[in-house]
Order: sequence, then C-alpha cells, then structure tokens
Amino acid sequence: MAAERDLEILIIGAGFGGMAAAIELQSHGLTNITILERDSGVGGTWLQNSYPGAACDVPSHMYSYSFAQRRDWSRLCSPQDEILEYAQGVARDYGVDRLVEPNVDVTGCAWDDDTRRWTVSAADGRTWEADAVIIATGQLHHPACSRSSSTSQGSRPAAAPSSRSSTSSRSR
Ligand SMILES: Cc1cc2nc3c(=O)[nH]c(=O)nc-3n(C[C@H](O)[C@H](O)[C@H](O)COP(=O)(O)OP(=O)(O)OC[C@H]3O[C@@H](n4cnc5c(N)ncnc54)[C@H](O)[C@@H]3O)c2cc1C
Repeated sequence: MAAERDLEILIIGAGFGGMAAAIELQSHGLTNITILERDSGVGGTWLQNSYPGAACDVPSHMYSYSFAQRRDWSRLCSPQDEILEYAQGVARDYGVDRLVEPNVDVTGCAWDDDTRRWTVSAADGRTWEADAVIIATGQLHHPACSRSSSTSQGSRPAAAPSSRSSTSSRSR
C-alpha cells in the first residue's frame, strides 16, 4: 500500500485570520503548510495601516488570540505598532513566520477534478499546488477614498481617508 503523504495546504493571507488557521492546523499535526502573502510578512491590517493614531477600537485583551494572551499592553486599546509587534511575536512563537512566502499576489485558484488538487497562481506567473486552500485575504486592505463631485478638481479622489477601511500612509 502506498504511504500516506502529508496533506499540502495553502493559506492565502498572513493577517490574524491566516495565522490562526496555520496555528490551528499545526496543532492537529498538519505541517505541510505554506502561507502566500502579498505583503512583506505577517500582520495584515496592522502591517498595512500605519497612519498616525491607528489603533484598535476594542480592548486589546479581547483583540488577541485566546492562546496567546499578554498582560502588558500599554493601553486598553493598543496602538497599531504594538498590535503588529504582538502578531509578529505570535508568528515567531508558533513557527508561522517560517511558513510565509512573502510578496506573492495570488490571482487565481483552480480545482482539478481528476487530480483532486488546487493550482494557485500568482501575478508574477508562479504557481503552487495543494490539496486544500484556505482564503484568509481579509477585506479592509483596499483604500477607500471619498469622491468629491463639486470641486474644481473634477473626479480626483479626495486625499482624506473616509473610515476604518481606509488604507492610508505607510510609514515603512
Ligand atoms: C485601520 C483598521 C483598523 C481596524 N481596527 C479594528 C478593531 O479595532 N477591532 C476589530 O475587531 N477589527 C478591526 N479592524 C478589522 C481587521 O481588519 C480585522 O480585525 C482583522 O485584522 C482581519 O484579519 P484578516 O486576517 O481577516 O485580514 P487582514 O488583516 O486584512 O489580512 C489579510 C491578508 O491577506 C493578504 N492578501 C489579500 N489578498 C491577497 C492576495 N490576492 N494574494 C496574497 N495575499 C493577499 C493581505 O495582504 C493581508 O496581509 C480594523 C481594520 C483596519 C483596516
């Protein structure tokens, strides 16, 4: 009988969601995991939004993983840099950072009924194959700029971010 091979799993997105999925899978003994991330590393929202004053709007002891609680948050609702540092620390502690393939902009996932495998493609032409794909791409990383219809600048978007979903200046 052929030896059972490890289930190959691709996670798309290395924000809190993708990290949690990887940690949970590892706890069940699944180790053949790759996280494809468009950005340079883990953190998602908290890596991509670094405008002045960016912070969590719920208490940090609730906005953190149940299995990785910390007691030394500097504020009740912590600032972005502290949340990012926390995410990076969890990624290191649970070995998630070594699973991340950074700078991969996933553009498609195709299922093949015959091979029963996924092929995941990226904008740069690279492809990956896997038995399972987990989409953890979030939804708030698209900049939302308000449009002004009555200015002399025509349809140029206004510069000010409009809400939480606004991606603004990156200080990196
Ligand atoms: C400024 C801001 C403040 C927020 N504050 C709060 C708060 O106070 N409380 C709260 O509960 N929630 C808050 N949120 C919501 C926050 O997004 C979620 O709490 C959580 O961080 C989402 O995690 P996620 O992993 O689902 O998505 P994300 O953090 O968005 O991570 C998704 C990851 O997927 C990657 N990705 C996306 N598409 C692709 C692709 N095609 N190929 C490869 N990689 C891809 C992205 O680069 C990103 O790293 C806030 C969101 C923003 C933007």
